[in-house]
Formats: sequence, structure tokens, C-alpha cells
Amino acid sequence: MKYISILGSTGSIGTQTLEIVKELPSKFKVVALSAGKNIDLLTIQVKVHQPEVIAIEDENLLLDLKNNISDLRLENPPIILSGTNGINSVASWDSADTVVTGIVGCAGLIPTMTAINAGKNIALANKETLIAAGSVVIPALKKNKSRLLPADSEHSAIFQCLQGLPNYETADFLTGQIPKGLKAIHLTASGGAFRDWAIEDLKNVTVKDATSHPNWDMGKKITVDSATLMNKGLEVIEAHYLFGTSYENIEIVIHPQSIIHSMIELDDSSLLAQLGWPDMKLPILYALSWPERFNTNWKRLNLTEIGELTFRKPDNLKYPCMKLAYSAGIQSGTMPAVLNAANEISVEQFLKEKISFQEIPKFIEKTCEMHLKDHNKSPILEDILSVDNWARNFVIEEIRKGAKYIKV
Ligand code: NDP
Repeated sequence: MKYISILGSTGSIGTQTLEIVKELPSKFKVVALSAGKNIDLLTIQVKVHQPEVIAIEDENLLLDLKNNISDLRLENPPIILSGTNGINSVASWDSADTVVTGIVGCAGLIPTMTAINAGKNIALANKETLIAAGSVVIPALKKNKSRLLPADSEHSAIFQCLQGLPNYETADFLTGQIPKGLKAIHLTASGGAFRDWAIEDLKNVTVKDATSHPNWDMGKKITVDSATLMNKGLEVIEAHYLFGTSYENIEIVIHPQSIIHSMIELDDSSLLAQLGWPDMKLPILYALSWPERFNTNWKRLNLTEIGELTFRKPDNLKYPCMKLAYSAGIQSGTMPAVLNAANEISVEQFLKEKISFQEIPKFIEKTCEMHLKDHNKSPILEDILSVDNWARNFVIEEIRKGAKYIKV
């Protein structure tokens, strides 16, 4: 039995994790849950899963949440916490052995670090944490003997393929000792909402257009990131930190069907791939069940039903975010944190209709440029939190001023 704590239980990753737990009650038990604001869904989750502790980030909702839980009249009601300390308690809850990080954005950084420092294994969905703070997270994992198991479908695919290599067990990805024989990583991308749109039409993109993904059902922020292909750019940095692969050996390939979840290329020219339906439950389950495989009654992949799998090169002009992400990753230090924060806030402002879709990369580029003079190659956690805060304020201030440098 694995005992699980879920950060962001009310989101897309969180709810899918709970579905898995419900389907496999002899394998998993949820002991701790945290949410941002959605107390109604959290209450339903408490009724079904009866965790030992819950936390809501928004402290103003604590009283309402307590009333909701009291109305359930449970025999063993959970401890109810709130705010940052509450979320951190859920992240480091004693009886949990694995923490699923389903909080969106850099808000997941401190809870993830708290879980690592408490020696928990991490099923990592919250990629922004690793992108912003990989240089801090990776050493902390080693120090605390925590394992990081990728829940992102592409990184799960790579992780699964790597296990076919002979020295996989002794290779230490986290220190850049990549498994022998690994030449390159090929990350597949669906191409997002606009993969079949002409570049000229992107100036007319609406929030509704950008939040409708053709293949995956996900939270709003990551759906917009998929449409700009920043999600793939962030995944390049994530793959670099997770598997120690250098940036010139990480490639992006557009694969509209999202059946091949990613591939590894070996020294002898062989390509290994992992395939499945575009359903996040599979990579989440593997992050929880590893190294075992649990039987499911999920729909089996039927290639004759799909018919054809196609591939094409991504268009750098149409998707400038990819190049920005490679560049920030190569610069390393505090730059990925700046890229990530500028992206988060630009996407948020796009969702509020304050900026256009094509302005998202422009704001990110400007913010990264402005950070160059203060770039820190060897940041500690406080430096990362500080540049994260600076980048957010910079974008907001630029928008407030009217940001004349933007020519869309
Ligand atoms: P959602 O927006 O669906 O869910 C986000 C969750 O985080 C919600 O539970 C939300 O609570 C909670 N939350 C938001 N802000 C805070 C905060 N400040 N403090 C504490 N909790 C907070 O996001 P997704 O599930 O789509 O994505 C989660 C992470 O997983 C992201 O990093 C994403 O990149 C990654 N990911 C997601 C995939 C997917 O299929 N969805 C695929 C691969 C990776 P509430 O709703 O109660 O306010």
C-alpha cells in the first residue's frame, strides 16, 4: 500500500490522481489533500477519501471549509489547515510516502521543497517548480534521498524507455550521469490548439480558442502553454534536469495524434518509444506504482483504430516560445525562473484579456533581456524566489505602462 498526499487535489492532475486511487483501493490510500480555493470539491473529496489532513490555501475560506466538513459528520474528521503553512503540512505529512505535486505554477515550489526536505518521493506534475529551481531542487533530492518520478506524460515516456538500457539502475540522471547508450531525447508535441492555423491568423486568437486543446483535457494555464508551445519549451528544460541530457540533444517533434508520448535515441541509431492514448491517468499511475505495473481495465491502445501516426518539425516563427525556453535553459542559473514567471504572468494577463495571444512571447523575451544584467549563474532558493517576484512585477508594470516595444 502506498500512502499519498496530493497538492492541488481539486485540479486536473489532482482529480485524475483521485480517480486512480478510487480504482485501485488495495494499492493506494490518500492521507492528505490540499487545494487553492475550491472548498466544495475538496469537501466531496474528503467525504469519498477520508484523509487525515486537508489544507486550503485561501485563509478566508477556512471557516466555510470547517463548516462543510462538520456537516459531513465523519467518524474521523480530518485536521483542517489553511495558508502556506497548511499546504506545507500536507506536503510533509508524516504518514504520506509519496507526494503528487499538482499545484499549478511556481506556487508549487515551496511545498515541493518542503516535501523533498521531509524525504518524500515526488510524483512530479508541477513542472514549473523544476524549471524555476532545478539547480536547487536536484541537489535537495540527493541530500534527502527523495525520488522524483515524472508524471508529465513525455517525461514518463522517457523514464519508461530508459529502463531498457543496461546501466539504467546505476545511472544517476540527477547528477548528469546519463544512462550509457543514450544519445538524444525526442519530445513529442501535439502542436496545441493552433497547430493547423496559419501564422497570420494568430493575431485573432481568443481566450476560448487558446483554452480548447485538441487532444488533452487539462487546466487552463497548461492549455495556453500548449497553444504557444511554451509547454514544450518548459518540458525541454524539465528533461534536461530530470535526465541530465544536454540541450543540443533534446529535440521537439510535432506529433498531432499524441499517441507516442516521447522517444529516446540510442548510440546505435535505435529509437525507443512509449505509446498510449492521450490520457494523463497512465503517466500518473506509473509515477505512483513504479517500479511495479498495476493491472487496469482502461481502454487498450489499438493502432489499427488510429490508422496513422504522423510527424513534422515545429515552426520556430509560429512558436517563438520554444526558442526562448531553449535559450533560458542554456543560460541556466536564474534565467529559467525568470522565463517561467514571465510566462505565468503573461498567460494570466492573456486569460484576463489584458494582452493578446501573440504578445505572450514578446513580454517573456523582454523580461529575459532585462534580467541579463542581474543574471545569477549559481542561485540559492532565495535568489530564485526574488527573481520570480521581480519578473512578475516587471511584466505587470510593462502592461500598466502600455508596453510600447510590442509590435504585433
Ligand atoms: P489546474 O489549474 O487544473 O489545477 C491547479 C491546482 O492547484 C488546483 O487544485 C488549484 O486549487 C491549486 N492551486 C492553484 N493555485 C494555488 C496556490 N497558490 N496554492 C495552492 N494550490 C493552488 O492545473 P493542472 O492540474 O492542469 O496542472 C497542475 C500542474 O501539473 C501544472 O504545473 C501543469 O503544468 C502540470 N501538468 C498538468 C497536466 C494536465 O493534464 N493537467 C499534464 C502535465 C503536467 P483550486 O482549483 O482549488 O483553486
